[in-house]
Amino acid sequence: MTVARWSWLGDRLAIDVANTVRRRGWRYVELITSPEDLRTWLEHERNRLAIPAPVDAALVSRFLPVRDHVLGVLRAAAAGEGLPAAEVRAINELAIAAPTVRLLGSRPGHQLTWPVTAADPATRLCADIAAATIDLLTGSDATAVALCDAPGCGQLYLRGRPNQQWCNPHCGTRARSQRHAERLSGQT
Ligand SMILES: [Zn+2]
Repeated sequence: MTVARWSWLGDRLAIDVANTVRRRGWRYVELITSPEDLRTWLEHERNRLAIPAPVDAALVSRFLPVRDHVLGVLRAAAAGEGLPAAEVRAINELAIAAPTVRLLGSRPGHQLTWPVTAADPATRLCADIAAATIDLLTGSDATAVALCDAPGCGQLYLRGRPNQQWCNPHCGTRARSQRHAERLSGQT
């Protein structure tokens, strides 16, 4: 089930990080419950994140709080709210702990990064995730961050048009049929 589980991967990095929780029905569940889960997720992101070795319980316990900070700011952005100060401070501190400079790649849109300071791989991973979050929320896509409020989804995504309400048409269909079912059960 790994492929289906991570099927939305390939979005902006910060969004992929935030989407490591997922709704079953209306309740959020954790998708990173073991080092193996984290390794599988990291393998999908290997083109843009260096995978620390080992991927162990200690790394999971570093990753999850970072993911929660990312979730906090992206959900606030999706709600059109100001960013929560404690999460902003945490993300900035993570980025500062292992800063990188952006370098030109070989074609437009291709970016390389170069580490400014030495850092252990776990600190680098957390900093790269923080930097990706900063890039997203300070760039032109910041106002396109949205939350899909469908049952069984609850994923963050980038709106392709201003009035887009669901991350994909299936979510819209599911949300409408769920509401219809709830209205019917409310009448009985
Ligand atoms: Zn959705």
